[in-house]
Amino acid sequence: MTETEKNRVEGGTLYLVATPIGNLSDLSSRAVKILTEVDFLCAEDTRVTSKLLSSLGITKSMVPYHDNNRHEKGPYIVRRLLEGESCALVSDAGTPAVSDPGEDLVRDCIEAGVPVTSVPGACAAITALTLSGMNTRRFAFEGFLEGRVSDRKAALERIRTDIRTQIFYEAPHRLTDTLALFSEVLGDDRRIALCRELTKLNEEVLRMTVGEAAAYYAENEPRGEYVVVVEGYTAKASEQFWAEMTVEEHVAYYMEKAEMKKMDAIKAAAKDRGVSKSDLYKQLL
Ligand code: SAM
Repeated sequence: MTETEKNRVEGGTLYLVATPIGNLSDLSSRAVKILTEVDFLCAEDTRVTSKLLSSLGITKSMVPYHDNNRHEKGPYIVRRLLEGESCALVSDAGTPAVSDPGEDLVRDCIEAGVPVTSVPGACAAITALTLSGMNTRRFAFEGFLEGRVSDRKAALERIRTDIRTQIFYEAPHRLTDTLALFSEVLGDDRRIALCRELTKLNEEVLRMTVGEAAAYYAENEPRGEYVVVVEGYTAKASEQFWAEMTVEEHVAYYMEKAEMKKMDAIKAAAKDRGVSKSDLYKQLL
């Protein structure tokens, strides 16, 4: 198949089409072509997508697909795809199915044997990660911290010793509370990048420590959309991270988080504890 053939819309296929996260010029020419040529669109909010389409001069029939109707609309959309129609799934901004409706539709299509393909583009998480200046080799996407304060705290406890860079989405009205939780659970010392209004006129990336960010936003009201990138766990950020772990947990930590073989994990834990490998091994037994 040539590249041009790949860009041709195929009947019976679901296209996941990324849309801009703020700057219309970020829409790819392939995305425009697919949006123009598919039989119908599935849109998170048809009013938002109508604005995008009218700026492109495209008129297209749309099926609303969001959290409240996905169980009902999923089978309907799959049926139309199985009958040979082509469909593009779009969300309000960015890559559909990333903290946006779509994940279920993709699964439904895969189960029904409907081909799914991607027209990639902007994604706020990846845009922020690359601007953060932090380790991009290993990272974890946490999305929105959900639920009550106790749930959000528990979620942070679970990742406290994760060495990977952590990416969060957050609404401006919750940012100050979230930073206070970061400070309480993750400590004040880690580096943090607050990536605001990415690709828009007022794009801004504030790079500081968690403690500085909590203090800054206690005085300055957060405005706009944010992705928050937080440095992963380092021994510097919290000395003797293993202090409250059993020997078994300490070894398991290295095996799971640093993907070490058991003997290497024992060696690393023994070094942390200032004991010999054989002593630590005996304690494990
Ligand atoms: N699917 C989208 C993506 O690919 O990035 C994310 C959708 S999620 C419902 C919306 C969240 O993404 C916002 O609350 C914010 O945290 C983040 N976001 C979206 N656009 C942004 C932007 N221009 N600047 C900063 N954060 C943004």
